[in-house]
Amino acid sequence: VFQLSVPLNFLGSVYRELRQSLLDMETLFNLQKVNVSIAEKPGAQPLQLTKGGEIRFENVTFGYYVDRPILRNLSVTIPAGKKVAVVGPSGCGKSTLLRLLFRSYDVQSGRIFVDDQDLRDVTLDSLRRAIGVVPQDTPLFNETVEHNIRYGNLDAPREAVVAAARRAHIHESIESWPHGYETKVGERGLMISGGEKQRLAVSRLILKDPPLLFFDEATSALDTHTEQALMANINEILRDKARTSVFVAHRLRTIYDADLIIVLREGAVVEQGTHRELMDRAGLYAELWAAQEMLMDENGEVVDAAARD
Ligand code: ATP
Repeated sequence: VFQLSVPLNFLGSVYRELRQSLLDMETLFNLQKVNVSIAEKPGAQPLQLTKGGEIRFENVTFGYYVDRPILRNLSVTIPAGKKVAVVGPSGCGKSTLLRLLFRSYDVQSGRIFVDDQDLRDVTLDSLRRAIGVVPQDTPLFNETVEHNIRYGNLDAPREAVVAAARRAHIHESIESWPHGYETKVGERGLMISGGEKQRLAVSRLILKDPPLLFFDEATSALDTHTEQALMANINEILRDKARTSVFVAHRLRTIYDADLIIVLREGAVVEQGTHRELMDRAGLYAELWAAQEMLMDENGEVVDAAARD
């Protein structure tokens, strides 16, 4: 990628956009070794966020293999400008939901709308430009930190890169690295922690500044403390501008303040509401919450169940 970047800079915005889309796809789905051929409809129109980014799933059924549905007749609305969490047992289809939104796959039946436009009727480029993702595991390119952040917006000046890093609370760490913003990271560069990687992903996101934000929470990359610090950063970013944000969450403590929590089981919505409402309901969410609380010590750190016995 590094070798390509110099000539590409001369080739104008089309290539830049293409590279941006490829990057986003790579970022979100680099671990999914499934061949994807999503076709853009002839005459597809650019996505228009007329309602501020309301997402609606209507009777969506989808599986990676035709005879093994992962999402089953799922219907749910993610309101515009709100912070929404998707929770549920492992394997219930949470990340799959994000992949469908990004249109890495198409639904088998049913429809997905953003502000009343079927995803299959809008241009892929406009859809993916509208979306920013913090994936489970942020892939880094074998380039400088600055380059890695700038992928969020290839035209951003240095000052904007630094400002984004400050807001993601990674600037001080970067300054302490051997060559500051010129430090090479990635497989052949400086080894950085999972938390630092995620902060770089948040910096990219701040630079890109998209109206729709998706977070796919890692199960174990971050300790509770780092995770809470990161969530605090993200909440701060969400506060200054209404954006639709969807958090796939394993640790319920990171999302209990969401405007809406959607609970999935086996690819269908079984409950939805605020933390309070779901606790009062004493259903699956309350069960998941109780199970996680049992594994917390008084500092909110997850206790290793095996070690405790
Ligand atoms: P977790 O909480 O463990 O991250 P999840 O709820 O996010 O899980 P998904 O990642 O959406 O679940 O996966 C749902 C199901 O689809 C799982 O059974 C998983 O094994 C399967 N699956 C996920 N990705 C693929 C893929 N690319 N090809 C085939 N099957 C897949």
